Amino acid sequence: MADSKSIEDVLLKQKEHDVQMIAERPTYPDLPKFNPSGASKCEYELYHQANKLPIPQNDLYPYHKRWLRNATAIHEAVQRDLLYMSEYLDRPRLEVKYLESGLPAWERNILKWEQFNHNGQQFIINGMCDGLLTDNETGKTVGFEFKTKSTTIAAVGDYKMKDVQDGHRLQAISYSILFFGDPYEDRTDTILFLYESLAKDWWTKGSEARSDLRTFQVEISLVDRMAVLDRFSEVVAMTEKPEHDCTNFFCPFTEEE
Ligand SMILES: [Zn+2]
Repeated sequence: MADSKSIEDVLLKQKEHDVQMIAERPTYPDLPKFNPSGASKCEYELYHQANKLPIPQNDLYPYHKRWLRNATAIHEAVQRDLLYMSEYLDRPRLEVKYLESGLPAWERNILKWEQFNHNGQQFIINGMCDGLLTDNETGKTVGFEFKTKSTTIAAVGDYKMKDVQDGHRLQAISYSILFFGDPYEDRTDTILFLYESLAKDWWTKGSEARSDLRTFQVEISLVDRMAVLDRFSEVVAMTEKPEHDCTNFFCPFTEEE
């Protein structure tokens, strides 16, 4: 029988672990370091990151901070949902994987770094993902990544959202490199994306309400993994600053130029 006490015990154990982790800082070899969310950054920013050069901070207004705070807080709520899903659904297709420690395989519990020697360049990829799940139909491990949209419900509608965002796909490739075994092996890894709009349709819409959720399944191949490793190795190999020609709104260097 499903048991909410055991789930809440796991979440409490998770909280204790998070508090312990505050004081613990992993140590890395002195090599250029990249992370999954950086896979879509422009070469100019990656060059700065790889060479530990200062990167300007975007100015945040208080409402930006509240925006980020809400988007972060909901991650914990979704983790709880995942545990309840695994326990309460009748034969769920997906289930949360657990580590030997008894903690779920997600976030900082699976934070890891891996050292690569690719195209003659040495670097580290460091990261964690929102979850590793078991697909009960295939027995395979699949990645899970949760993303929020904070503007309007249309942001997750069919018209505005045709597929996983490019940057998120690159992030998924980094997960495939880090969490699914040898990245040079010829295999396909699956990462699931769940997008939730924090804005909802009118309360009174009921069954007519527009969906605030979208899910996508992304398949990552050996070719995809090599493209990301090639890109990181190219940045490491650069001996001088590249031109900054990106127009990415979120690039911290965009305003400066
Ligand atoms: Zn840029």
